[in-house]
Amino acid sequence: MPLRAQKIKLIMDLRRGGVSDRRVLEVIETLPREAFVPESFRDRAYENTALPIADGQTISQPQTVAFMTQALEVGPRLKVLEIGTGSGYQAAVLSRLCRRVYSVERYRALLKEAEARFAALGISNITTRHGDGHKGWVEQAPFDRIIVTAAAPQVPPALVDQLAEGGVMVIPVGEEAGEQRLLRLRRTAEGVAEEDLIHTKFVPLVPGVARDG
Ligand code: SAH
Repeated sequence: MPLRAQKIKLIMDLRRGGVSDRRVLEVIETLPREAFVPESFRDRAYENTALPIADGQTISQPQTVAFMTQALEVGPRLKVLEIGTGSGYQAAVLSRLCRRVYSVERYRALLKEAEARFAALGISNITTRHGDGHKGWVEQAPFDRIIVTAAAPQVPPALVDQLAEGGVMVIPVGEEAGEQRLLRLRRTAEGVAEEDLIHTKFVPLVPGVARDG
């Protein structure tokens, strides 16, 4: 199927899957996902599936990226923290819809590849860091939005602390093999409210940074 037809099919799929935010759909349509997947998977870049990247990790399914981005209630003035850079695709989607994106990854090699992709695509509003996402990014806090793209058994308390008032966090919570729920947390003057959105399947948020090599 020609690329154009694959993209149209994907956008229709996402709409059926409950993604109605036009800004999100437009970014998915125009951002080259083929630049974020390994060479051997390029012809499958617009399939609505997760694909393997290096170090046993995955680039999330377009449906998941689109749904989470919509759930995050993004906007052009917002400062976003992402945990789990992976291929960099989710960060690149956010970079088109937000003011600045800070992204933390525990694998240095993945981070280097993602940084090279951002540079090649001329994306200049993503700042990355090699570190343990459980800790967030305290020097840059607070964040208007926080998105976690790996599943944790509980919401890491440091991330809740780094969420600005009026801020929104989207995070999959649960065991790797068990039931995972996508939660949306919202910080108001009164406290933190929690909504349960959908079922998800993410790789685990692993404590500490990965050793290289
Ligand atoms: N957002 C990515 C998909 C991420 S897959 C994309 O768009 O491609 C989950 C990522 O989280 C993996 O790259 C994994 O290495 C990373 N990760 C897991 N535990 C982490 C931690 N404690 N801190 C930072 N990154 C972590």
